[in-house]
Formats: sequence, C-alpha cells, structure tokens
Amino acid sequence: MTLAERGVPVTLFESGPVPGGRARRVKTRDIELDNGQHILSGAYSELLRLMRLVGVPSDAVLRCPLELRYADGFALRALWLPAPLGMLFGLLLAGGLPFREQIGAVRFMLAMRRDRFRLPADTSVAELLTRHGQDGRIGHYLWRPLCVSALNTPPEGASAQLFLNVLRDTLAAGDEASDLLLPKADLSRLFPEPACDFVRAKGGEVRCGETVRDLEALRAQCGKVILAVGPHQLKAIAPGLAPDYGYQPIYTCYLQYPKQVRLKFPMLGFAHGIVQWAFDRGALTGEKGRIACVISAQGDHQQLGQDELAQACHRQLVAALGAMPDPEWSQVIAEKRATIACAPGLARPSQTTSIPGVYLAGDYTDPDYPPTLEAAVRSGIRAAALASEGRLDG
Ligand SMILES: Cc1cc2nc3c(=O)[nH]c(=O)nc-3n(C[C@H](O)[C@H](O)[C@H](O)COP(=O)(O)OP(=O)(O)OC[C@H]3O[C@@H](n4cnc5c(N)ncnc54)[C@H](O)[C@@H]3O)c2cc1C
Repeated sequence: MTLAERGVPVTLFESGPVPGGRARRVKTRDIELDNGQHILSGAYSELLRLMRLVGVPSDAVLRCPLELRYADGFALRALWLPAPLGMLFGLLLAGGLPFREQIGAVRFMLAMRRDRFRLPADTSVAELLTRHGQDGRIGHYLWRPLCVSALNTPPEGASAQLFLNVLRDTLAAGDEASDLLLPKADLSRLFPEPACDFVRAKGGEVRCGETVRDLEALRAQCGKVILAVGPHQLKAIAPGLAPDYGYQPIYTCYLQYPKQVRLKFPMLGFAHGIVQWAFDRGALTGEKGRIACVISAQGDHQQLGQDELAQACHRQLVAALGAMPDPEWSQVIAEKRATIACAPGLARPSQTTSIPGVYLAGDYTDPDYPPTLEAAVRSGIRAAALASEGRLDG
C-alpha cells in the first residue's frame, strides 16, 4: 500500500487463495471461519491508519476500554482517564484483589514508568513478576494472561523487555491506546481485501494463488523484492536469509451451538483450564451460537486430537458457565507456527539483506514489538522506505 500510494509499480504475490496470511478467512466444509480469533489494540497506530486510508469504517471493529472479564466473576477494567490513571484506577477498583496486591501493582507500574520501561538486561516475564512481587492474583488474572496474549509465549520463557514495551505502548500510553478492538468482519474482509483493492486502484497488481519459487528470476523481472513471508517460509526462497527461530502455536476451537447460545460478554476469560479466552462470534460477527475458544502458546492441549480438544473446550465452558447443549459441530484450527517464540534477548534480522535489492518484512523483523499485526505493518512500511531508497519519509 505504501509503495503503491507513492506511485511505485507494485506486484504482490500471495501463495494463498485469499489475502491475509496468518490473519485470514478460511473455508472448511463450506463454512467460513477465521484461521484464528484476532484482537487489535488501540496502540496499533499504523495498522489503524492504513485501515482508515482504505476506508474501513470505524464500526468494522467493536472498540472498548481494556476490560478483562473472567467466567469466575473476576473483572478488571481500565477507565477512560489520562494514562496511566485509567489503568491505575482500574487496578484500585478491581474487585477480588487484596488491597496489598492492588497497591503493589500500581507501584510496579509506576516503577516501570520511572525506568521508562527499560531493563538493564533482559530476563523472563516470570522472573520480572517475581522480582516485583507480582506473582499473586494480579499475576494470575492480569500479567500472565497479558504476556501470553501479547507475546504468545509462556511467561517463563518470554522476554520481559518486550512485555514492558507492550505495557509502555498500551496500559501506560495516552489516549485510548489500551483499548481492545474486536473485529466484526472476517479477517480477510476486515483489511487485506480492501488493502488489495487500494493497491489495484493505484495501478498495482495482486496475484493470489501464486507462489514465488525463484528469487533470482523475480529480481531480474522486478528489480527490487520485499520478502514479507514468515521466517520458516524464507527457507524455501532464500535459505541464506532464513533465521533459526523457535515457534509457538495458537489453537482456535470453534464450537457451533444452537443460535440462542450466547456469552455474557463478547470476550470472556478463563483463569483455569486449557481455554484462555472465549469469544462470542454471534455478538461480534453475527455468527449466532458460535463460540471461538482460544488457546495461545504451547501446552498439554497439543497432545489431544481435534475431537478430544473440542470436547475438552465444551466441557470447560459447561463447567464455568453452567449447562449448555452439545455443539452441533466443532472445528479446531491449529496454527503450529502462529508466531516466533519471544525469548529474552531475541535477535531480529536486519530488513536490508546481503542480496542487493532484496528486503525483509514481517512481524518477526520488528525489534521493538512482539510478533503481531502492528509489527507486520510497521515492518512493511519500513521495508517500503528502504526499497524506494529514501524516497519515502520515516
Ligand atoms: C491463530 C493466530 C492468532 C493470532 N492472534 C493475533 C492477535 O490477536 N493480534 C495480533 O496482533 N496478532 C495476532 N496473531 C499474529 C498475526 O497474525 C501475525 O503477526 C501477522 O499476521 C503476521 O503477518 P506477516 O505479514 O508478518 O506474515 P504472514 O501473515 O504469515 O504473511 C506471509 C504471507 O506470505 C505468503 N507466502 C509465503 N511464502 C510465499 C511464497 N513463496 N510466495 C508467495 N507468497 C508466500 C503466505 O501465504 C502468507 O500469506 C495471531 C496469529 C495467529 C496464527
């Protein structure tokens, strides 16, 4: 989009049938689903800017202040107050937290803010929480779930510095940066398809269903190439550039109940069990009776077959919410390489490469951000600037 907007002739090759990559619409048994439930954050400034640029209406997402509601009744809500007051008052008002922990959490946030969210040396999130006395209920209900959701890595193996970067840009940032934005359209329709229409309208070409296999031939044809593929997919096109990362999975289990089944809130957390979050797709996308159960990061659930996992998700919902009819159908989508594992001190590759005219983009290349939609977008904008040799600002 960035290159096409500036009049650079662009051809996008996408091996999949629809655009979107790891955030796309999939069709299984004639049913359209997302490859995984996604959440956007108010801090996704570049993604939200591009969405506005292609005319995505603001009501394509359900926007609400950060609110963590758990099936067991625990709730934590940031208030729309200037940062960091919104979060701090939210912590102080959280029911179910001992006063000592409320004050401890506020102290932790203030200490991190004083240090500008910088650690002298990276460590694990678990170690950071222990060091600051954040292991109690606040750790269980807020910090650990936030780590798994944002970094898709268990706190024991997740980078504390990346976690603090997320806190800096969300909970401790101004305006509405900590808001949650829940898509009300399928993921390809939400942004990638309008983005492709934008590229075409500017004279570019979008070729879905075409896999690039020969980088040299493409370079000869196009002059410059931005490789915006997952790091493991680089091995097939440019093995010399492929970094060696560990990966973490995300499983989404869709349970289709009769249409009248709803959750009390569009997004509901679970403090125990394999499902971490359940989303009411009826309330979000109009798919009535459909609940998306999300299981981020590695765990014992990976040992279960698809039917066993769906049954386990259903049992967890029943145990937490009371009697429910059996699902009419279920579908598990296992993204085994959903993101790279965000280990402490993780090195990111340079976006310029040893091959002249070839640049890297993708969520794993952003040094400041966990692998997310926003990281992918920011890296794309930077790659566009590099490829057009400084002709773009920023
Ligand atoms: C289940 C799941 C849930 C997630 N939840 C969230 C969330 O809630 N919030 C969030 O911000 N992030 C979330 N993420 C992460 C987010 O989806 C990714 O960070 C983001 O989509 C990565 O974008 P990317 O452009 O870097 O890579 P990708 O989306 O992987 O895009 C790479 C593209 O390159 C194509 N490709 C690969 N090789 C070739 C080739 N040789 N020729 C042509 N095309 C090729 C692939 O088909 C793919 O479409 C989630 C990811 C998953 C899997």
